[in-house]
Order: sequence, then structure tokens, then C-alpha cells
Amino acid sequence: MEKKYRLLIEGKFVDSISGKEFTTYNPATGEKIADVAEGGTEDINRAVKAARQAFEEGPWHTMSPTERGKLLVKAGGIIRRKSKELAILDTLDAGKPINDTTSVDVPMSAEFFEYYGGLCDKICGETLPVGNDFLNYTRREPYGVVGLLTAWNFPILNAAIKIAPAIACGNCVILKASELTPLTALELGRACLEAGIPEGVVNVVPGFGKTAGEALVEHLDVDKIAFTGSCKTGRRIMQAASKTFKHVTLELGGKSPNVVFPDADIEAAIYGAIFGIFPNQGQECCASSRLFLHESIHDEFLERLIEKSRKIKVGNPLSEDTQLGAIISGKQLEKIKGYVASGLEEGASLKLGGRNPVGVEFKKGFFYLPTIFSDVKNDMKIAREEIFGPVLSVLKFRDEKEAVRLANETQYGLAAAIWTKDIKRAHLLAREIKAGSIYINDTTLFGWAAPFGGYKASGVGREMGMAAIDTYTQTKDVWVNLSPEPNRWADPLESK
Ligand code: NAD
Repeated sequence: MEKKYRLLIEGKFVDSISGKEFTTYNPATGEKIADVAEGGTEDINRAVKAARQAFEEGPWHTMSPTERGKLLVKAGGIIRRKSKELAILDTLDAGKPINDTTSVDVPMSAEFFEYYGGLCDKICGETLPVGNDFLNYTRREPYGVVGLLTAWNFPILNAAIKIAPAIACGNCVILKASELTPLTALELGRACLEAGIPEGVVNVVPGFGKTAGEALVEHLDVDKIAFTGSCKTGRRIMQAASKTFKHVTLELGGKSPNVVFPDADIEAAIYGAIFGIFPNQGQECCASSRLFLHESIHDEFLERLIEKSRKIKVGNPLSEDTQLGAIISGKQLEKIKGYVASGLEEGASLKLGGRNPVGVEFKKGFFYLPTIFSDVKNDMKIAREEIFGPVLSVLKFRDEKEAVRLANETQYGLAAAIWTKDIKRAHLLAREIKAGSIYINDTTLFGWAAPFGGYKASGVGREMGMAAIDTYTQTKDVWVNLSPEPNRWADPLESK
């Protein structure tokens, strides 16, 4: 593995202008993985200039969309070819279990490039019925230069979800990946170059939010920002973007409800409740972190849920049998512990976990056991705020009406799960719950073809699927006069 990573600007891996570097660590062991060039304002300026030049002078957005699509598909193939190396890198950098990075994160990243590669020559406008005297049509045009900012929880996947549709639409991009997990974003940039995507189309500038991130958001020559991260930063980005009227898409946090009715397939719902919160150590935006159980099934469901969750294997993320790996950082671990302490203070009952695992393998890294609280009320901090850790809050409900009220009683609206065999109830709740994604008899699903994004504080705009074409293009409307007569408005009225 490379011990030093550089910025990718205009097709070349370069040092930062300041010469500064930062170190990225393995959260499972505390060991250094690599030094990374630290992008600052001057590097962002350099990358924006390269992207602007590639957009205005390069062939990218004017080339045949079919050819552009082929290059994206080729990049997808390169990601697949390097999948083992990329999965190991994400596992080392983010503490994610190798089984997850191998089976989900990396292949899905390839899939995003292949899906949007296939869509390149299907991006089109409409002809509109404005009357016989005119032809009216729309064009879908790229913004130009797009700044992309991503979170650390799915390092390669978050980058692929943004880069693939943005460049498929003809934009040129600068990606600032999270300072905690910068490595696979650079490798994705390398894969794009190897596929033959022209220099300057994909630039990757690792660095910190306050420096590289803010410089990108405030840059006068960036046309659009697409951001994935916390609500707090999302708010700052929206404010900063207002100075230049930059278009923004925000993919933010969540506190998703998972509602189980007594008529559900209870075994499937127990597996679903576990899958909804514990993969990726609970560090998922759409995690079903509030579990609502109908009062008639509450006690038995909870008991079986605890028994199954107790057996989840926490361990070295590189081991094939590890299900729950490391928490991203000491800071995040402290935050999780703080929430657990607040749950206890506010009167919730700790039923499982609530502490670090014990053993030599856990000594140097950041680990936390699967944790379940019952007797949670919706106004407790652990039910209101996004913990972003393996902590599940279990609540009770009496009937459908109360389930909807409690599910919606949150500032967030990213996703919601409903477990029932009653199709009428399932679709009524799907309609009534205010969230961007609804899962009926499943949890935490997302994929390249389905739109994803938040209601309320969970975000602005949509990513993935065809919706991302709207996100990364602007609509231009064209009027063509077909009338045989000129518009004689200028003639004096009495002569008409
Ligand atoms: P974060 O907001 O701290 O950072 C996200 C990115 O923004 C990083 O690259 C960071 O360097 C950058 N940044 C920080 N401050 C900045 C500033 N002032 N200006 C510009 N950029 C700045 O979030 P995080 O801790 O990396 O990620 C966790 C959050 O991401 C959670 O809330 C999670 O729910 C959310 N998330 C949402 C989705 C989604 O699709 N909705 C997906 C993954 C993660």
C-alpha cells in the first residue's frame, strides 16, 4: 500500500502548495496508514481552475454522450478489477468490516459508474405544447464546475454516488472527501483517469472542512455544491452558498423510525431491526435508530431481539467473520458514550451493551458493543438526536394513529420502515410518514436506481436514480417562433 497520497489535480498526483500533510489512522488499531497531502485554499483554487478549463475547453461535455458513457462503464470495470485492494483500503481507513466493504461498498461503487454510464445518452429534454405558433423544447445542461463534499461513513461509496452522476451529466468536479477517510476517493479519481476520462474532469483534494471545504463552497467559479454530512455543516454550507447564489444539494442526518405491527412476520422484523441499526457500527444516515413496537408484542420481541443482538460478532474489521467493526474515531466514540449516559440519566432502561468490548484486540482501537435501550420516550435525547453509533432506542405504541404521530415527531425525515402483512395499513403509513425513503417489510435499503434524500432537516434535493440527473443539470427552455406573421404589437392600436 502507498504510504503517501497526493492531491489529484488536472490528471496529476501533486503535493499541496503549502507542502502540508496530515495522517490518516486505522480506527481499529490506532496505527498510521498513510500521510496525505493537505489541500488548502490555493489547492482548491488550482483544482477549480483545472475543472473550469476541462469544462470550457475540454471535450467532456461536448463529446458524444455514448462515448462519455463508455468511459464511465470502463471506470466501473476498473473499480471491480481493483475491488480487493479498495475494500481493504476502506476497511483500514474507516474500520468497516471487510465483509461489508467487499460485498457492498466497492461493488456498489462500480455499479454507480455503470448505471450512470448507461444513462449518459438518455439525458434529454422535452418538447412542450405551448401552441401552434411555437416550437418549445428544453435542454438538460450541466452546471459546469461542481464541488462535492462527502462524509466518512461510506468512503468510496459516498464518493461514487456523487462523482458518477455529476460527470455523466457533463460536469467537471472537485471532490473533497472527509479528512478521516481520504484514501479511496483518491483511488476512485485514479480509476477515472485510467479509464480515459480526460484530465481535469475529476479532481480530488483531501483536506479539512474549515479550510479546503469552505474554500470550495465559497469559490466564485464553482456553480453547484453537493454535500453529504451532518445537519450542522449542511446549515453552514447553505449559508455560505447564499453569498454566491450557488445551487446546493444536501444529504444530511436521520433518526429513522422502524414500526412493527403485531401482524408482521416477527422473525423477519427482528432480523430487520438488527439490520436497521447495527451494520457499519450504526454509522448510517438512514439507520432505523428508533424501533416502535406495538404494545402487544413489545416484551417478547424485545427479548428475542436482545438474544440475537448479543451474538453479533464485534472484532477486527479485517476478519472475515466480523459483523461490527470499529467506530471511526475517539471523538465519535466519546459522543456515543455521552448519548448512552444521557439515556440512563433520562430514565431509559439499558438492556444490552452500553460499554466497550473487553479483550486485547480492542485495546488500541475504538469499539463499542451493540446497545439497546427500552422504555425510551420520544422526547429523550437518545430518541431525538442522531447518535451515529450502534445504539437502538425501543419505544411502544398503541395503534396506527399513534405510530404515525410518534414516527413523525422528529426534526428528521430520511427514511422509515413499516412491518405488517396488512397491505392497506402498509401503504397508508407509507403515505403518512414524512420521509424520503419508505421500506415495507425491510430496512435501510438504497441503490443506484432508486432516488434517495431527506424530508425536513434530513436534506435538500435528491441523489441516485434518475433524480440525480435533475441534481446535476440545469433546465434551459428554448422558444422557436413558427408563426408566418410577425408580432405586430408595436403597430399603433388604431391601425389593427
Ligand atoms: P461533517 O458534516 O462533519 O463532514 C462532512 C464533510 O464536510 C467532510 O468532508 C468535512 O470535512 C466537510 N466539512 C466540515 N465542515 C465544513 C465546512 N465548514 N465547510 C465545508 N465543508 C465542511 O459530517 P461527518 O461527520 O463526516 O458525517 C456524518 C454525518 O453525515 C451524519 O450526520 C450522517 O447522517 C450524514 N450522512 C448523510 C448521508 C445521506 O445520504 N443523507 C449519507 C452519509 C452520511
